[in-house]
Amino acid sequence: MKSGVDMGRIRAFGAAHRYYQGPGALGLVGKLVAGLGRRPLLVADAVVAQLLRERVAQSCAAQGMELRWVEVRGDVTRALVQRLVAEASADGRVPDVVLAAGGGKGVDCGKAVSRELGAKLLVLPTSASNDGPCSESFVYYDENHRLQSVEHLPRNPDAVIVDTAVLARAPRALLVSGIGDALCKLYEGRQARGVQGLNLFGGRSTLAAEQLSLACERVIRDDAVAGLQALSRGEPDEAFERLTEALVLLAGLAFENSGLSIAHSMTRGLTRVPETAAALHGQQVGYGLLVQFMLERRSPGFMAEQLRFHRAVGLATSLRELGVAAPDASLYARIADGAMTAPHLKHFEQPLAAADFEAAMRRLEELSSASPY
Ligand SMILES: [Zn+2]
Repeated sequence: MKSGVDMGRIRAFGAAHRYYQGPGALGLVGKLVAGLGRRPLLVADAVVAQLLRERVAQSCAAQGMELRWVEVRGDVTRALVQRLVAEASADGRVPDVVLAAGGGKGVDCGKAVSRELGAKLLVLPTSASNDGPCSESFVYYDENHRLQSVEHLPRNPDAVIVDTAVLARAPRALLVSGIGDALCKLYEGRQARGVQGLNLFGGRSTLAAEQLSLACERVIRDDAVAGLQALSRGEPDEAFERLTEALVLLAGLAFENSGLSIAHSMTRGLTRVPETAAALHGQQVGYGLLVQFMLERRSPGFMAEQLRFHRAVGLATSLRELGVAAPDASLYARIADGAMTAPHLKHFEQPLAAADFEAAMRRLEELSSASPY
């Protein structure tokens, strides 16, 4: 931001404009769209469209609007987004409100389409699998499934609508991933604040962001196990509602308004190895968080608590649990080299070298296999 302002002295805070969460919340879509435009476009893959298209279309029809749909197929690439934008505007009726629906891909793709069209944006997550729904960023992949770039919207979503009756029937692995992604936020934010790093809005973190991060972490520790039980019954309860708010709203606010650190830097390395690249994002950063703790030289008692919690909710505590049969020197080196390319490395209490990452991963591997529970 070249404004002549010293951003190191400016506190910045941003958020989605509106947030609605609860069973049946999808019924609010029509009214919300009507307040923003007239030509809604659903961006979702076929599975997600099957899940909610009819209800969303009815809700829009009740406001006198026709819902159109473009199908997301494959990774979110620039080519896919260009294709969907062309398809959506083919008859000259350019959509003015995009409904980005899904776990991760549909949401990211919808964000990209809304930016290209200059349309308003509603996000309808169908699982609490990551902290993306409330954020102004999304990710492009290249044709070889590799992360190409982190992109930004001109503003956060106009509304995020979280129907917990839908989320309570999502696959367990996705909720576990969301827990991993959200759990990092307090600890990464602390490192970012510790070095007075800038957050995603280009300014210093706020007291608000710190308190939201603390609340996010506390709710996860208190309610994750009960929330997972609610998911296995397929019925949202109070614990599930609190957990969902922590994973979707609080984690999103915490990360954009604080900044990221080591846990997320690890994804740059883990995505270079086929076995760990196949793991869900939240599993990658959940493991990355444990590596961060090793680099922070946490006490054995603290680490034992962390491993216990990770296992209670189903998060990996080692490369073996992430799917690597036998980690060897070249594998550690590949992951460490990848982690060293991450821009968030500067958000850490000391400069790090690849050897530090390798040593931390090796120590964690030993600790994990020596922990009985
Ligand atoms: Zn993340």
